[in-house]
Amino acid sequence: MLVLEALTAGYGQSQALAGIDLAIGAGEVVTLLGRNGMGKTTTVRAIMGLLPSVGGRIWGGAASFAGDSLLGQPPHRVAQRGLGLVPEGRQIFPTLNVEENLIATAADRDGRGRWTLDGIYDLFPRLRERRRNSGGKLSGGEQQMLAIGRALMTNPRLLILDEATEGLAPIIRAEIWAVLAQLKAEGQAILLIDKNLGAVLRLADRHVVVEKGRSVWTGTSAELESDPALRETYLHL
Ligand code: ATP
Repeated sequence: MLVLEALTAGYGQSQALAGIDLAIGAGEVVTLLGRNGMGKTTTVRAIMGLLPSVGGRIWGGAASFAGDSLLGQPPHRVAQRGLGLVPEGRQIFPTLNVEENLIATAADRDGRGRWTLDGIYDLFPRLRERRRNSGGKLSGGEQQMLAIGRALMTNPRLLILDEATEGLAPIIRAEIWAVLAQLKAEGQAILLIDKNLGAVLRLADRHVVVEKGRSVWTGTSAELESDPALRETYLHL
C-alpha cells in the first residue's frame, strides 16, 4: 500500500524530516507515534504531496506498487492513486451541507467503489440526520465523522487519519474507534496519528516512532507494551 524510504522534507530552511522509513501492507493498520513537533503531521503532508521540498522515496497507492512513485506528485494525483486523508483540524467545507461535502470529493473509480452515500450514513447515522445542515453548523464530533466520510467517499486504498479523535467527547471518540475497528475488519489499510495510546495499541498492527524527524523504532503493540523504557524515552509515557 505504501512504502517510505529515507523520506525528507522541510519548511524553507528548516528540515522537519531527516529520514522516515515505513511500510504498510494491504489491510494493515500502522500508527505514527512521537511527541509534539517530532514530524508526524509533516510526514503525512509529505506523502499527500502537500509540501514543496520532499526527498527520499514514496511508493504506493496501487494494489501492486511496483514503479508507482508518489514523490513530487500533486495532491490530486496522490488522491487518485488511492490515498485518502482525514486532515488535522478536519477542514470540511463550512458553507456546503453534509451531503455536498461528501459528494465533493467522491471519485467512484470504475464505478466499483465500496462507498456510497448510504454506506457512509449507515456507518455514521448522525450524518444522515444532519445531511441538509451546513458543515459549519455541525458539532466537532459530527465534523470529524464528516471528514472521515468524505475521505472514504474517494474509496481510498489507504486511509490516513491525523489526530481524528483530538478534542472530542469520550462517547464520540469511542464511536470513531469502533468505526475504525470495523474498517480494519473489512480489510481497510490505515495510517494513523493519534495520542490515545491505549486505543492505538488495541487497533494497530504496528507502530513507527518518530523522533526529531526520523523513524527511530518500529514494532508491534505487544513489543511497545512490554518496553516501558522505550515509551518513557520517546513518548514520555
Ligand atoms: P504535533 O503532534 O504537535 O502535530 P508532529 O509530530 O505532527 O507534532 P509536525 O507538525 O510534523 O510535528 O512538526 C515537525 C516540525 O516541523 C516541528 O519542528 C514544527 O515546528 C515544524 N513545522 C511544522 N509545520 C511548519 C510550518 N508550516 N512552517 C514551519 N515549520 C513547521
